[in-house]
Amino acid sequence: MVFAHDTEAALAAAAALVNTGGRTEEKLPDLAALDEFFTAYKWTGRRAHTPAELRSVWELRPRLRRVWEAGEDEVVEIVNELLRESNALPQLVRHDGWPYHLHATPSDAPLATRMAVEAAMALVDVVREGQLDRLRVCEFPDCGNVVVDLTKNRSKRFCDAGCGNRAAVNAYRARKAAARH
Ligand SMILES: [Zn+2]
Ligand SMILES: [Zn+2]
Repeated sequence: MVFAHDTEAALAAAAALVNTGGRTEEKLPDLAALDEFFTAYKWTGRRAHTPAELRSVWELRPRLRRVWEAGEDEVVEIVNELLRESNALPQLVRHDGWPYHLHATPSDAPLATRMAVEAAMALVDVVREGQLDRLRVCEFPDCGNVVVDLTKNRSKRFCDAGCGNRAAVNAYRARKAAARH
């Protein structure tokens, strides 16, 4: 494990959130899709189930995406801003069968605020441990999905949406084509 369990889970959730706003397809088009995302990434706490809630989650995505693209100083600015504007207050809590972990917002804070702060708290760890290079953009042409590389040898180049397979198929075809000439 590269980071603490809750940090790794939060990074995965943040990346997944960024990737819902893909280049070709909106994967959080409505509240039902947000419900599914909420459950899939084991979010807990209060929900508003309003269009405003969905909109604020959409608005968080480009700010988080910058973290995958920006240099360290800008990442720090974004992280500090997210923590400041949410009045983050770290507290150890235990709930839903999880061992003690950090929450920095009350469970009745708006969903987008909780998402922002959870991502920011995880990013604090990433920056402090000098591991920002583990946050990368998928190398498959025109994919644009963000990737969290938690491999030992930092070898993850593609996102989990099938780009690794597509790249392998392309490489295979290229080798076959080259062999024919
Ligand atoms: Zn929790
Ligand atoms: Zn990809």
